[in-house]
Amino acid sequence: MSEPQIRRIAILAGDGIGPEVTYWGKEALKMIAQGFNHQFVFEEALIGHAAIEATGDPLPEETLTTCKGVHAILLGAVGHPKYDNDPHAIVRPEQGLLKIRKQLGLFANLRPIKIFDALLGASSLKESILKGTDILFYRELTGGIYFGTRAKSEDGLSAYDTMSYSFMEVERIARKAFEAAKGRRKIVHSIDKANVLDSSRLWRATVNKIAAEYPEVALHHMFVDNMAMQLIRDPKQFDVVITGNMFGDILTDEASQISGSLGLLPSASLGKLVGLYEPVHGSAPDIAGKNMANPMATMLSAAMLLRHSFEMEEEAKLLEDSIAQILEEGYRTKDLANDQTAHGMICGTDQIGKHILEKLESKLFQSVVI
Ligand code: NAD
Repeated sequence: MSEPQIRRIAILAGDGIGPEVTYWGKEALKMIAQGFNHQFVFEEALIGHAAIEATGDPLPEETLTTCKGVHAILLGAVGHPKYDNDPHAIVRPEQGLLKIRKQLGLFANLRPIKIFDALLGASSLKESILKGTDILFYRELTGGIYFGTRAKSEDGLSAYDTMSYSFMEVERIARKAFEAAKGRRKIVHSIDKANVLDSSRLWRATVNKIAAEYPEVALHHMFVDNMAMQLIRDPKQFDVVITGNMFGDILTDEASQISGSLGLLPSASLGKLVGLYEPVHGSAPDIAGKNMANPMATMLSAAMLLRHSFEMEEEAKLLEDSIAQILEEGYRTKDLANDQTAHGMICGTDQIGKHILEKLESKLFQSVVI
């Protein structure tokens, strides 16, 4: 048998529950490597409050060098109450996150919105509306109004922010979204406000141009206000959704309610180089160190890492199916405890992590012939 290719993965555990949840993400990756005869090498590095404490910098040069030398990054979360309660702090954990996204050119933020069948009854939306929802958002992450010129008048009575997009910024994320749609239900919804904004008219024209290269994918344009309504009215109509930075920020938060808990939501940030994978949630200082964190969002982020950075679809699916199955069996972490289908099987972080790994192990050694 030929030597497996070495794939390097940086683990940036960060703060609060970050180390607790990345532990299980890494364990899942180790088990996948074992089952499929892959060679993953892990490199730990500091970010956030943990990095400030050790070096004074939320993203030390050493971490950046590590991240530039690996094939993928798994990040936990950054943030600490010390800074949240001190608006004057000049050095802050979140600066580490913004800097790493910028330095690595991570312009496409992917957020899958899915509901596990086992959790259908736990949502505040009707089961009939939710069942079968499977949306993949592509949010532009390094342009638009959050990065445009801005100013406040001297008297402080007026202010402006500029929303600007270039052909290049739209084209590169549109291409990623159309590529993804090819392997899914082949539908792209592009969200804008082209009836009012010039930047949206450029967005729409650019998306149309890229769409012409993908005749097998159906493209629909939708205004952002209509999308906000359609997302709750009939989320199943969406497959891949592509949108700008601010619209995506708002819509993905709205869509997160479809999945239920924050503890279930993974994300990927992709650019030209290395991909960064992280749960959507923060460092949750209220439950840090209490063995209460749900590690599933991080384990699902690890599945995204396998799929998007390593093109290991079967491996990713096996990990996702293991999580779905333990939910089917009624196991829950505390954040999912309001779900009546849990049958009282409430687990701590370690217990649920072990259940998922046991399920993964049983699947691996059933289905893989090495
Ligand atoms: P949060 O996501 O950390 O927590 C919000 C609520 O959800 C809390 O009650 C928490 O206990 C719960 N929660 C979050 N993740 C969970 C999980 N995996 N399992 C179970 N429960 C979970 O948001 P917050 O409280 O607004 O912020 C806390 C800190 O995190 C702040 O310092 C903030 O700046 C930072 N933050 C970081 C990121 C990031 O690293 N990407 C994102 C958001 C917030």
